[in-house]
Amino acid sequence: MRRVYLDHSATTPLDRGVFEEMKPYFSKKFGNASSLHSFGREASEAVEEAREKVANVLKCKPSEVFFTSGGTEADNWAVKGTAFANWKKGRHIITSSIEHHAILYTCEYLEKNGFEVTYLPVDRYGLVKPADVEDAIRKDTILISIMHANNEIGTIEPIGEIGKIARENEIYFHSDGVQSFCKIPTDVNKLNVDMFSISAHKFYGPKGVGALFIRSGTKIEPLLHGGGHEKGMRSGTENTPGIVGLGAASELGLKRMEKDAEKMISLRDRLIKDVLKINGSWLNGHPVKRLPNNAHFCFSLIEGESLILYLDEKGIAASTGSACSSKSLEPSHVLLRIGLRHEEAHGSLRLTLGRENRKDEIDYVIKVIPKEVERLRAISPFKTKKQLSSFKSTEED
Ligand SMILES: *Cc1c(COP(=O)(O)O)cnc(C)c1O
Repeated sequence: MRRVYLDHSATTPLDRGVFEEMKPYFSKKFGNASSLHSFGREASEAVEEAREKVANVLKCKPSEVFFTSGGTEADNWAVKGTAFANWKKGRHIITSSIEHHAILYTCEYLEKNGFEVTYLPVDRYGLVKPADVEDAIRKDTILISIMHANNEIGTIEPIGEIGKIARENEIYFHSDGVQSFCKIPTDVNKLNVDMFSISAHKFYGPKGVGALFIRSGTKIEPLLHGGGHEKGMRSGTENTPGIVGLGAASELGLKRMEKDAEKMISLRDRLIKDVLKINGSWLNGHPVKRLPNNAHFCFSLIEGESLILYLDEKGIAASTGSACSSKSLEPSHVLLRIGLRHEEAHGSLRLTLGRENRKDEIDYVIKVIPKEVERLRAISPFKTKKQLSSFKSTEED
């Protein structure tokens, strides 16, 4: 059976070339990057080369890039690290209500430990209003954290503008850039961010490695204490093969960013146009301010989880939204925050494209989805006779 992978926001396949670059560091070049001998130097040189490659995408100094175990650690570090370093100055944090759980649950943890958090609302497209950020600022605000692009609905936030407000008020500004890095430009100076999280497996690198950009001069505590790696900021023997993979994926991603985006936008827009022909369907997220690879729909009267399973039977890998919350029955917090009712939010489908997707794969998906939606509606527990007849599919093949 043919298989089409359309879940690139959950994870991407490891690029073959990236894998080849990583390989020697699992075996022949196994040295500990902290060792003084040639084995160690071989590893530490590779780590520094990777740091430069990441810095090239962020347009920052290599010394401002700190490797982590992934996006979750980078997010935790940015929020807790700034909180722990600046609590004497203030204990108030501003974030949005549609952040990834790596930010939201970290903020909730801090709330249980003496900090106060403002969770900003978003509009129906998922956009944070810069004016709302400004209004939420207090004398004791020490950190603002707003994601660059949302992982469920793909909305791109006005980070540059919010960053300007943060800077004018001398408040640290972090952005979760896990979904935007290597998909759209992420120049940390244009974005006006002090910290920025990335994760390799979201852009064709390996799982379990990421980085946090920390602008020099930022007051932040380490989360991990020990041998003093990463200039004492993140202890633990460097994951050399992973870091090499992160660097290689960054270099490749930067080179391909424009072409990949152009191709994905054209496939995505065809997908959106055709899927929206289904009765009782709509697009979530912003029509224009959205990631090149994201299409996120809702279909009335069905369960998104069931649709995912039906599509999987046809070889199509999709998602309802966040991979992290898809095992719970609660509808997505993002969809509720953009104003959907519970029953509407349940019928969601996220299709996220990658650079390897082809036109014929999208053709196949466009043929399958209407049939599967119709099949589900026929057995829908939500249906009433009247609703069912009004949603009878227009596709007759
Ligand atoms: C995937 C993701 C994370 C978590 O990154 P991991 O490397 O999987 O820990 C954080 N934030 C966003 C927006 C993500 O999409």
